[in-house]
Amino acid sequence: MTTEQTPRARTETDVVLEARAVTKHFPVRRTGRDLIARRHRTVHAVDDVSLELRRGTVTALVGESGSGKSTVARLLAQLYPLTAGEIHLGGTAVKAGRGRSFRTYVKQVQLIFQDPFASLNPVHTVRYHLTRALRIHGRAGRGEAELEKNLAALLERVQLTPPHQYLDKFPHELSGGQRQRVAIARALGADPQVLLADEPVSMLDVSIRLGVLNLLRDLKERLRLAILYITHDIASARYFADTTLVMYAGRIVEGGDSETVTQRPAHPYTQLLIASAPDPDRVADEAAQEETGSGEPPSLIDPPAGCRFHPRCPKAMERCRTELPPRFDLADGQWAACWLYEGTAEGATADGTATAADVSADGTASAPTDTAGGAASRSATAKGAAK
Ligand code: SF4
Repeated sequence: MTTEQTPRARTETDVVLEARAVTKHFPVRRTGRDLIARRHRTVHAVDDVSLELRRGTVTALVGESGSGKSTVARLLAQLYPLTAGEIHLGGTAVKAGRGRSFRTYVKQVQLIFQDPFASLNPVHTVRYHLTRALRIHGRAGRGEAELEKNLAALLERVQLTPPHQYLDKFPHELSGGQRQRVAIARALGADPQVLLADEPVSMLDVSIRLGVLNLLRDLKERLRLAILYITHDIASARYFADTTLVMYAGRIVEGGDSETVTQRPAHPYTQLLIASAPDPDRVADEAAQEETGSGEPPSLIDPPAGCRFHPRCPKAMERCRTELPPRFDLADGQWAACWLYEGTAEGATADGTATAADVSADGTASAPTDTAGGAASRSATAKGAAK
């Protein structure tokens, strides 16, 4: 067996879009009190976020509402200017700006919104939306016949068949799932390399969510798209995503392959997220609730010093209140930004890495436990974490 990667293997691991230490702070409108106190307040929406989206893979970004995950999607879509950091497309730093350079960028990177009804113009038909996308991106073809062929191909790609039944419908004549498929078809009209899907199924009926996720997975495989899947539902990340990143209060706190992160969560916040999933077996289990923590996310105008999770963390130590934990690499590509893994990250295993199971509630070594993996597989929504 040769150690050289085949061209196919290289393609599969290609990084298409990359965020490097991306930060976004929004200024808060000043009140009378702010004027008197001469203070300028900012919302620390996203701080020092780095991630890579690879061709033919789905990366899930999971977190509570207000954790900054949708802001990350908008930064990657270049809808907001960065406060700090860089975005690289195909290995080159890009700053889309407006006008032609923005159009060139969005041809490669398309954003799908949470609410398909709001993202489609109610006074226009499916034909109008898709034709416009094809024309803007120069893919309408020559003449009416070619345009019709391209429109039909787009609808077939999102499994709205036969196409002629959908082309002249208005958004209100479609179901939620069909509208989201039209929104996806419109994104595909640009022939992008990257899809940024911001909670693409959270506004759909439970019965049709799986169909849309399966469609996105099919597109990932057939078109080799790099997909960012933003969700508050960590169980769906396990089902759908290759890699999972967990975000808390504007920072990414854990990452790794989806199976490992959901079955063997390392960061106390990920453990809380999974333990918060509805599970009839745990309804009266207050001890487990205490072990994983509870409470509300902090204000991002004045986020806690040190580890932002420390006010809610049942394992918080003194240094957590003052020192920001760096990223500690664990086994199997998993990592966590948590002081519990300092020291254990070296020497815990033969290759010098620790596993999530090596650290127990009091920060000492322990045997692996069946924490929340079962819960993740049993549940559909991370209850407390989602709200
Ligand atoms: Fe909890 Fe400290 Fe780890 Fe933060 S760094 S998650 S407060 S133990």
